[in-house]
Amino acid sequence: MPDARGSATTGWSGRYDVVIVGAGHGGAHAAAALRQHGFAGSVAMVGDEPRLPYERPPLSKDYLSGETPFEQLLLHPPAFWQERDVEILTDRRVTTVDARAHRVRCDDGTVLEYGHLVWATGGTPRTLSCPGHDLGGVHTVRTVADSDRLRAELPAVTRAVVVGGGYIGLEAAAVLRAAGKHVTVVEAQDRVLARVAGAPLSRFYEALHRTHGVDLRLGASVERLEGASRVAGVRLADGELLPCELVIVGIGIVPAVAPLRAAGAAGSDGVVVDERCRTTLPDVFAIGDCAAHRNRFADDAVIRLESVQNAHDQAAVVARILAGTDARYDAVPWFWSKQYDLRLQTVGLSTGHDATVVRGDPATGRFSVVYLREGRVVALDCVNAVKDYVQGRKLVAARARVDPALLADPALPLKELASA
Ligand code: ADP
Repeated sequence: MPDARGSATTGWSGRYDVVIVGAGHGGAHAAAALRQHGFAGSVAMVGDEPRLPYERPPLSKDYLSGETPFEQLLLHPPAFWQERDVEILTDRRVTTVDARAHRVRCDDGTVLEYGHLVWATGGTPRTLSCPGHDLGGVHTVRTVADSDRLRAELPAVTRAVVVGGGYIGLEAAAVLRAAGKHVTVVEAQDRVLARVAGAPLSRFYEALHRTHGVDLRLGASVERLEGASRVAGVRLADGELLPCELVIVGIGIVPAVAPLRAAGAAGSDGVVVDERCRTTLPDVFAIGDCAAHRNRFADDAVIRLESVQNAHDQAAVVARILAGTDARYDAVPWFWSKQYDLRLQTVGLSTGHDATVVRGDPATGRFSVVYLREGRVVALDCVNAVKDYVQGRKLVAARARVDPALLADPALPLKELASA
């Protein structure tokens, strides 16, 4: 019998009522929630890292800066999993799913039979495809090992280039600036955070990073990475060379669903799930970053949400269903980011908005952007504005129709607008 620290022997085989693939936020919460809801069957969780489940958001923030030690990242201590009788098989990756036989096979030969399978693998970071993408000193940030490798190199680094002005890239840029490095951010779009936020928020973060000394290049593309074995510079398409000793690539993820797709699960970007998080394969659920689901906060479009909260909420749905209570996923999306001393909290989904209202003065470092679609509030981005975030949630949940002039007045609490 393998123990909960994952010392199962290579090639070990067994049957579990539930096998969870992926030991990140989604997988870990699915396992914990199964027990919380009284599920008495056997549960195994397979993860490709050598660690027990831990928090990922700090990897590009407080963990990268060295402020938070790894122990504080653990979602639960080892005893938690032992007490709940959850087998955690670490350091192995599921490579094959046989949906008909209800069986998965891992890269180390481990074979597990399941009653139900919960696919919670998230994604792998996209990498650059240009020449030099695989040189030493080129990093992505997704696992604690990634963050450790990056940190280990920092003392010898003077200049760093961050490719991608999404949250990962910007958070990493903030940490590197705080560590005194010269930082250039190269973003392909004409503004940062273009995938997830509106122009007012992008402009605010661009100004913030520039104020902190980041050299921000918008609408710039990488031609190749130069260097012998280690990276020595980033050559842009316009010919400019940005000399550097380190590159961080934060250009999104690719959902890790190849084995499920090979087994016949429907999907193109990730795997498709219904409101109960069921894939098109029998007895196979998918949750978290890799689960393409219809979301009413995105006007019923089929989307993937890359957030801890989504992984958590979808895990809770699956756990309830497996424990015998019906449940459907229908959660207001939220997300947060920390850069320098500013905390951003977002609620709802701004994609598809047709108007924005800025509430408060961005110059004060405390304001919100309210996103509207056809006169209704669909999302808020709140910078150091916790009240707006908490109260704005209700507006988003109700898709409230509010006069933009009232939204723009920070003296009027959003909760009063909600009732109006
Ligand atoms: P992450 O979660 O890694 O921050 P996002 O998709 O939110 O991912 O952000 C990635 C950012 O990287 C986007 O703003 C996107 O425009 C940018 N990007 C993608 N590919 C490139 C590239 N080759 N060069 C520069 N920027 C890129």
